[in-house]
Amino acid sequence: MFSYLSHLECSWCHAHYPADRLYNVCPACGRPLLARYDMEAAKAGFRPEMLAGRPATLWRYAEMLPVKDPAYRITLGEGFTPLLRLERLGAALGQSQLYAKDEGLNPTASFKARGLCLAVARAAELGARALGIPTAGNAGSAMAAYAARAGLPATVYAPRDVPPVFVAEMSALGAEVFLVDGLITDCARCVQEGVAAGRWFDLSTLKEPYRVEGKKTMGYELAEQFAWTLPDVIIYPTGGGTGIVGMWKAFAEMEQLHWTGSARPRMVSVQAAGCAPIVRAFERGDEVAGTWENAATIADGLRVPRAIGDFLILQAIRQSGGTALAVTDEEIRAAMSEIGRTEGIFVAPEAAATLAALRHLCQSGFIRPDERVVLFLTGSGLKYTHLVRAPMVNEA
Ligand SMILES: *Cc1c(COP(=O)(O)O)cnc(C)c1O
Ligand SMILES: [Zn+2]
Repeated sequence: MFSYLSHLECSWCHAHYPADRLYNVCPACGRPLLARYDMEAAKAGFRPEMLAGRPATLWRYAEMLPVKDPAYRITLGEGFTPLLRLERLGAALGQSQLYAKDEGLNPTASFKARGLCLAVARAAELGARALGIPTAGNAGSAMAAYAARAGLPATVYAPRDVPPVFVAEMSALGAEVFLVDGLITDCARCVQEGVAAGRWFDLSTLKEPYRVEGKKTMGYELAEQFAWTLPDVIIYPTGGGTGIVGMWKAFAEMEQLHWTGSARPRMVSVQAAGCAPIVRAFERGDEVAGTWENAATIADGLRVPRAIGDFLILQAIRQSGGTALAVTDEEIRAAMSEIGRTEGIFVAPEAAATLAALRHLCQSGFIRPDERVVLFLTGSGLKYTHLVRAPMVNEA
């Protein structure tokens, strides 16, 4: 399988750069770089029929992914997660076509596996010798796993209050873990210092071009699983926003490939009431989001006070006719238990936030009862057992 990757383009100033060397952000303006492909050649040479019989991982879309040498296509079985019908929850909410994408089934139990699989693979292919990352937990675990798979040393910086299970997992996967007094933005500063000292390549969200390429496969999969149509609404828990930006990119690419039409899902960004910079910017009509002060929420992956891709997230929401809303930690806890009880899926708090948001959007009329709606259940609840209040135990 051949990759049609052609060059990098800055998402802000549109400067072009070669794709065959390591870049972080745009050297001219400091904004995210995006991978571009030879779409004319891809349209002629890559067709949906070719996917038949390929492995059920994200590498089935290798032509539209950045890794050129098949030897670098490392895998732990990431992607091609189930698209599940949620009959019971749908009935309770009066929605006849409610679905979930169960991303908790990815390696290291979250959709972070998609982005880090691609970022690590491509960094290895381009000659990176060591990798560093700031994390709320899941990104560090995924990076540790794929770095081990690629044979590269990994260093992770996490806030001191990261659940201990992540530290255990990252250590078991061979990463060196540092705990930081502060938030993920403070961890990012530590990683930056290591970059300046020449110690590693920085894999922060949207600060290198390829995590978003891994995340975009969620868009390709949705289309394939819905027989080359797209749902009406996607509800996505937003921290750094790579998933929204990636899926939005996938929808544009698939239209150019003539795999899907021009109709797009309305993209809904869900954040936590204690850290909602994108929601605030959306409501104010701002183009960028700025920094949220005193960020606090039980949904660690949503505790991102500032996102470098803020303008890309806001563009996707607005261009799609979508919306952004915040939900409280109480609503998130209730939704975690409701998804578990009614559908048999134990989800992370970030994932549960999508159900809390759905309830508001049904009540407000933003979502009509017969629309096809997909909740992105981005991670498993197994690393958040501290959030399960009063687990039911009976003495035998
Ligand atoms: C990181 C994370 C998010 C936020 O994802 P972004 O793409 O950074 O916006 C949501 N859910 C879980 C479980 C996460 O680990
Ligand atoms: Zn630029």
